[in-house]
Amino acid sequence: MVELAIHDLHVSVEEKEILKGLDLTIQSGERHALMGPNGNGKSTLLAAIMGNPKYTVTQGTITLDGKDILSMPVDQRSKAGLFLGMQYPPEISGVTNSDFLRSAINARREKPIGLFQFIKQMEGAISSLQMKSDLAHRFVNDGFSGGEKKRNEIVQMTMLKPSIAMLDEIDSGLDVDALRIVADAVMKSQEECDSGLIIVSHYARFLEYLKPTHAHILIDGQIVASGDATLVEKVDKEGYEWIEEEVGVQA
Ligand code: ADP
Ligand code: MG
Ligand code: MG
Repeated sequence: MVELAIHDLHVSVEEKEILKGLDLTIQSGERHALMGPNGNGKSTLLAAIMGNPKYTVTQGTITLDGKDILSMPVDQRSKAGLFLGMQYPPEISGVTNSDFLRSAINARREKPIGLFQFIKQMEGAISSLQMKSDLAHRFVNDGFSGGEKKRNEIVQMTMLKPSIAMLDEIDSGLDVDALRIVADAVMKSQEECDSGLIIVSHYARFLEYLKPTHAHILIDGQIVASGDATLVEKVDKEGYEWIEEEVGVQA
């Protein structure tokens, strides 16, 4: 059982406060949908959890099983079991997917993974995302279409087996078939590892596939409403105005 606990989190970007006292707890096996109008701090939250140095935590705590992660650099957070599937995955020219993943996996192990076992795992991940087998030998995201980049994030998730996985609009730019493939692969990986998930998404259909156990709305740097999957349906039907009126915040 793993628990990621965020308490009274304040985060600034370029001197501007974006998160203003946010509380959230995620445990193994849970799937949390994180919704909210654009520009309210969803990506900022995930970047701060992962340790992106552009995002300054000015107050509050983030712990993983009681251990302070704010003092850890990104690579240590990744080794501790955190994974971020990014909204805009970067291209890493000159590094193949297979080299990238092999060193990431080996960084988590005492003894390096055997080549045969690695290849088998990589082939499994590539085929569950229905990507072409030459993926292993291509540079990370180099010249990939938007959809390929998103699938590649889930190839990484599948292979790295995180205890807490955060997916930032991983469904944007995917067509209906790709949406299903990505959702199925996310569910499969999550079930295998019993990971806790934070899913940022605007699409009710994607969230329907992923069956969130919890749902939250983030407005103006705070979580202003939490509930179960019925909250996703409500947002899909009614948008965010009702909640802005109810709690008196403006997106
Ligand atoms: P969301 O993911 O909810 O759409 P973001 O967290 O991306 O929102 O953005 C929240 C606010 O922080 C916005 O006003 C955005 O312009 C600002 N912001 C986020 N990241 C950066 C950055 N790297 N540099 C400058 N401003 C940023
Ligand atoms: Mg956004
Ligand atoms: Mg965002």
